[in-house]
Amino acid sequence: EWVDFTQFYNRIIDRFEFTKQQNVTFERRVPTTADFVEIDTDKLTQVLDNIISNAMKYSPEGGKITFSIEEQEGYLIISVADEGMGIPKENVSKIFNRFYRVDKARTRKLGGTGLGLAIAKEMVEAHGGEIWAESIEGKGTKISFSLPYIRSEEDDWE
Ligand code: ATP
Ligand code: MG
Repeated sequence: EWVDFTQFYNRIIDRFEFTKQQNVTFERRVPTTADFVEIDTDKLTQVLDNIISNAMKYSPEGGKITFSIEEQEGYLIISVADEGMGIPKENVSKIFNRFYRVDKARTRKLGGTGLGLAIAKEMVEAHGGEIWAESIEGKGTKISFSLPYIRSEEDDWE
């Protein structure tokens, strides 16, 4: 299904914004133009739900979550950055593994099975994209993924 990714992303962010029970601020850095991608919307909804729920789960009181879309050489780079506890350097590469959870004691009280990001990785790769994480302990985490896209040609019609 072809969708304008910016609109699709905004709807998902809206849903989290309207239902959130935590004191976290949302910031959106998304284009005003349409960015069409051919995606399985159910699967991409699950990818974003998994990434955003983590960002919420690990955000401190009063933290900010920044949502962005950038265009880069035929790809959209979508990211979700939080101001949470972060992930130790040596563990960052493992968070996309099935059942992997950083520091069981730390995360036990937050619940979860350690499958969210493994599922996200599988689905992003099935769309021809990649997923990765950048994190600084004590400062925050940014999860990004890429999707191949075709730029809207609307501008050419005027
Ligand atoms: P599930 O998603 O299945 O409910 P989960 O959230 O523990 O469980 P993943 O979403 O796969 O599992 O994440 C794996 C681990 O990566 C988490 O347990 C956590 O340790 C770490 N992690 C993921 N996202 C963040 C984040 N935004 N900030 C800090 N740590 C994170
Ligand atoms: Mg999760």
